[in-house]
Amino acid sequence: MPIGILALQGAVEPHHLKLKSMGVEAVSVRTAEELRNCQGLIIPGGESTTFLKLIHENNLLQPILTFAERQSVWGVCAGSILMAKEVENPPQESLSLVPIRVRRNAYGRQNESFIAVFGLNLPGGSPIRQEGVFIRAPQVVEWEDNVAVLAKYEDKPVALQYRHHLVTTFHPELSESPALHHYFLSLCNSDR
Ligand code: GLN
Repeated sequence: MPIGILALQGAVEPHHLKLKSMGVEAVSVRTAEELRNCQGLIIPGGESTTFLKLIHENNLLQPILTFAERQSVWGVCAGSILMAKEVENPPQESLSLVPIRVRRNAYGRQNESFIAVFGLNLPGGSPIRQEGVFIRAPQVVEWEDNVAVLAKYEDKPVALQYRHHLVTTFHPELSESPALHHYFLSLCNSDR
């Protein structure tokens, strides 16, 4: 079964290119029907408020929540905002799939976007260096003990795992390394 990429708006294409380069089948998801055939779902970066509006307009809220009970979901940047239990600056509705609190646009405006390199600890592997492209990124300001922090930048988690779900506040699809995409695939394929 393919990996789905929520294709309502935002940085959809770079995930397609990355998965294609890895020889992994991926499909764009815009309807509940398309979601049903997927083995995991990537919610890409974009604008979380626009995503929320389009998720409602396309009647995808409940289908995504039902899907997430058994299948892995990876929220990238705006996707991580959607997956958080609580959102601030300003508060907004979310899917509440991961018990973290995120602060939107915590690093400033578009022209304060940046690239950083930090250590990434993926379970079952050795620590590696990961490049992170942060574009009007949120910051994870609170997280529960049962959330695994896979990477930190300036003392704040930037990659986290909760149960079979993944969140990154940066855009791994815009960097060369396929490590996080590989790791997400392993979460999608693991038995539950
Ligand atoms: N600032 C955006 C938001 O709050 C997220 C930016 C991104 O996904 N690169 O939704």
